[in-house]
Amino acid sequence: MTASVYNTPVRVTVTPALDYFEKCPKCGYPAEAVSTVRTYATGRVTTELVATCGMPCGWQSTT
Ligand SMILES: [Zn+2]
Repeated sequence: MTASVYNTPVRVTVTPALDYFEKCPKCGYPAEAVSTVRTYATGRVTTELVATCGMPCGWQSTT
């Protein structure tokens, strides 16, 4: 599979999601989240919020 320039982000920015206050559904501990913003050559921008538990229970969410 060949990676196309249209499918490869030209810029990726990862910032902490400071307004994320959800709790881990597995252990109830407050979760942390980072927001990943990908900018593509076509001008398309996608934002992905990935939440992970601060405790070592391994929970992770991509909503
Ligand atoms: Zn947890």
